[in-house]
Amino acid sequence: MKVLIADSIDKKGIENLEEVADVVVDTKITPEELAKTINQYDAIVIRSRTKLTKEIIDNADNLKIIARAGVGVDNVDVDAATSKGIMVVNTAESTTVTVAEHAMGLMLASARKIAIADKSVKDNKWEKSKFMGTELKNKTLGVLGMGRIGSQVINRCKAFEMDAIAYDPYLPPEAVKDVGVELIEDVKDVLKQADFITIHVPLTPETRNLIDEEEFEIMKDDAFIINCARGGIINEDALFTALKENKIGGAALDVYEVEPPKDSKLFELDNIVLTPHIAASTKEAQRDAAIIAADEIVEVFKGKTPKNVLNMPAVDATTFQIVKPYLNICEKIGKFLSQAIKGKIRELEIIYCGELAEINNQEILSRSILQGILSPVLNRAVNTINAPTIAKSRGIAIIEGKQCDVSTYDSVIKIKATTDEDTLYLEGTEVLEPKIIKINDYVVDVKPEGNMFISKYKDIPGTIGSIGSLFGEHDINIGTMQVGRDKESGEAIMVLTVDHEIPDNLTDEIKKLSNVYDAIGIKL
Ligand code: NAD
Repeated sequence: MKVLIADSIDKKGIENLEEVADVVVDTKITPEELAKTINQYDAIVIRSRTKLTKEIIDNADNLKIIARAGVGVDNVDVDAATSKGIMVVNTAESTTVTVAEHAMGLMLASARKIAIADKSVKDNKWEKSKFMGTELKNKTLGVLGMGRIGSQVINRCKAFEMDAIAYDPYLPPEAVKDVGVELIEDVKDVLKQADFITIHVPLTPETRNLIDEEEFEIMKDDAFIINCARGGIINEDALFTALKENKIGGAALDVYEVEPPKDSKLFELDNIVLTPHIAASTKEAQRDAAIIAADEIVEVFKGKTPKNVLNMPAVDATTFQIVKPYLNICEKIGKFLSQAIKGKIRELEIIYCGELAEINNQEILSRSILQGILSPVLNRAVNTINAPTIAKSRGIAIIEGKQCDVSTYDSVIKIKATTDEDTLYLEGTEVLEPKIIKINDYVVDVKPEGNMFISKYKDIPGTIGSIGSLFGEHDINIGTMQVGRDKESGEAIMVLTVDHEIPDNLTDEIKKLSNVYDAIGIKL
C-alpha cells in the first residue's frame, strides 16, 4: 500500500503509517503534480493546504481513503470522492480535550481576572485590591450542550469541586448518567442557577442568539459566561450591555459573530477575556489528529471500517443501484422529522415498501434517515457509519420492517417517530426528486428542501389567510402551499416552502393566532 502525506502532520502519524505502507511525504506538491501522480496512491493525508478537487479525485483510480487531519473538509470534493467510492475521514475528536481545557482556562481567567491583572503588572502597576476574584469551588456550573466537549468540561469541573447542571434538549437523562450531571428541562432554569455558564452547542437556527437580552436578565448578577463553541450563540450587543451595566460578573469568548472581531465595542470592557479562536490549537490536538488520521488509514488497509467516515460506507453494487435514488429522501425526511417533532425521540419505526422491501439489506437507508435526524442538532460529523451508534447512545430505539403493497410509487419509506410528548408519521418517496407524500393522516406532495414551515390549526375560515398575512408582514414570500384536513372544521395541516429562513418571532406570532395549534420553521 502506498500513502501520500500531502500536508505537514505530526511525525507520530507518519511513523504509524510507515509500519504498514510505503509513505511518501511531499508537503509542497502542486495541484498539477498531484493530479498526475494521485493514481499511484491508496491513501492520502491532508490538512487544509491541499485541495482535492473533482479533477484530481477523478484521476485517483487506486485511492481508498482521504484522511483529513483536522475537522473541516471544505478543501475536499466529498461528492466526487463518494461517487468514486473513496472514503473521506476527519479527526474531529482530536480537539475535544483541547477545547475543554481552553474553556477551563477561560473560566479561571474570568474568575481570577488573570488577563487584566497581567496587563496591569506589565503596565508597572501593583493593583492587588482591584483584582478580587471568585473561587470555582462549590459554585454551580451550567453546561449548555452535553456532547463531547461539554462532558469533558464537567469531568474537569468535578476536580474543582463544582456542582454541575446541564441543558441539552436532545439527550435523555440516561445518556448522561456516566457523566454524573443533572439535565435540566428548561434552559432558563440553568441560567438562573448557574454561577458559571459554558456553551458547547453547535450554531444552528435554534441556538443562534440562544443567549440574548432576556437571558442576561435572568442570570445571577455575578455569573460568568464562557463561549468556546461558535460566534452568534451569544448576542454580542446584549453581552456588551450586560457587561457594561454589570448585570453579570464577566464573560470570556474564543469565538465571535464576525471573525476577526474588528474594533468591537467589547474591547473597551475590563470584565471580558477574549482569545482569537484558539480553543482547538494545541500541539497535542495536532499530534492526535495525525495519529487518528493514520489509524483510520490502517483500519482501511486491514479491510475494516474506520470510525470517522464522512461519506458512505461501501455496499454491493446491485444493492447500491436500487437504494441510491432513495438516499436523498431518507436524509431529507430525517432532517424534516427532527425539526418538525417536539421532544426527545425515543423510538423510530421505519417500514420499507415496494421495491425497497425486496432487497436484502436496507441498512444504508436507515442510516441515512438517522444521519438526517441527528445532524441538525449535533456539531460532529454524523454520517451513515456513525449514525446508529450515536442514535443508540442518545436512547433512540429503531424498529425496521418491510411491506410489499405499494401501488402508486415503486417504493415508499414510512417513518413513525415517538417522543416523550409527540408522535409524527411521515411517508416519503423519490420520483425524479424527493417527496414527502404523507404527514400524519394527511396526504401531501411536498418537496423537502430549503426553508419550510409546518403548522397544525383548526380548519375554520380565515386561518390560512391570517398565517399568509403574517408571512407578508415579515416580507417572506411563500413558494408553495399544501393544506390537508381530517374533516370539515376539524384539524388541518399546512406545509409551506418559503424563500427565506423563518425567524422565531414569526413562528411565535403565528402560534398566538387563535385556532393555530403549532407553527414550526424548518431548514433543510
Ligand atoms: P457535539 O456534537 O459532540 O455536541 C453538541 C451537543 O449540543 C449535542 O449533545 C447536542 O445534543 C447539543 N445541542 C444541540 N442543539 C442544542 C440546543 N439547542 N440546546 C442545547 N444543546 C444542544 O459537539 P462538540 O464536539 O462537543 O462541539 C461543541 C461546540 O464546540 C461546537 O459548536 C463546535 O463547533 C465547537 N468547537 C469550537 C472549537 C474552537 O476552536 N473554539 C473547536 C472545536 C469545537
